[in-house]
Amino acid sequence: MRGHCLCGKCSFEVDTPVLSCVSCHCESCRRQCAAPMTTYFGIRDGNWRWTGEAPKLFASSPGVERSFCPHCGTPMSFRSQAMSDVMHLYVSVLENPEELQPTLHVAYEEKLPWVQLNDGLPSCFGPDYTKVQPLPD
Ligand SMILES: [Zn+2]
Ligand SMILES: [Zn+2]
Repeated sequence: MRGHCLCGKCSFEVDTPVLSCVSCHCESCRRQCAAPMTTYFGIRDGNWRWTGEAPKLFASSPGVERSFCPHCGTPMSFRSQAMSDVMHLYVSVLENPEELQPTLHVAYEEKLPWVQLNDGLPSCFGPDYTKVQPLPD
């Protein structure tokens, strides 16, 4: 699979299959993407590469690095120290975003109240989809 930013200068290539694909409701993802939620996929280092210009990095919180195209501002990725060898790229920048489907909602406790979902997917507390915990009642 391939993806690119809005202006096309930042691009990447990914070997399938990917590790995971989830929709995140956390405030940091919402702010970076200027969207009520975002969907990203995880891919282990070595199975993906930048093919154009590498995006610009910034540390959005301790242990979390996000990236964006320095020309057009498109958000491209985030990486957490908690999963240091896994890159997360945003599904919406794929050339064919319909190739992946999310399987889980993460940080669901931060979901905006007016976001109405009826996709039947499970949801979990917090951002770490590798340690899925059901939402507290
Ligand atoms: Zn760009
Ligand atoms: Zn998030």
